[in-house]
Amino acid sequence: MGDRWRVEVDRSVCIGSGLCAASAPDGFRLDSVRQSHPVQDEADASEALLAAAESCPVEAIALHLAGSSEPVFPPD
Ligand code: SF4
Repeated sequence: MGDRWRVEVDRSVCIGSGLCAASAPDGFRLDSVRQSHPVQDEADASEALLAAAESCPVEAIALHLAGSSEPVFPPD
């Protein structure tokens, strides 16, 4: 079975660019005030999620291995 990732968005820094939802439409959605939310708190590891985290201009997206504090992005 592949890894599962915990997906978090720090909405105190999100500027609503929408890049994450464009990169991973299954992973993120913007609310009515253009704040990004993970569609699911945990999701299967995927290139799209990683690309979304990497594309965020303010590094608002954090990915961790589910059930642990081990970072996926940003790396340690
Ligand atoms: S890419 Fe970053 S700043 Fe842009 S909407 Fe997503 S979380 Fe917010």
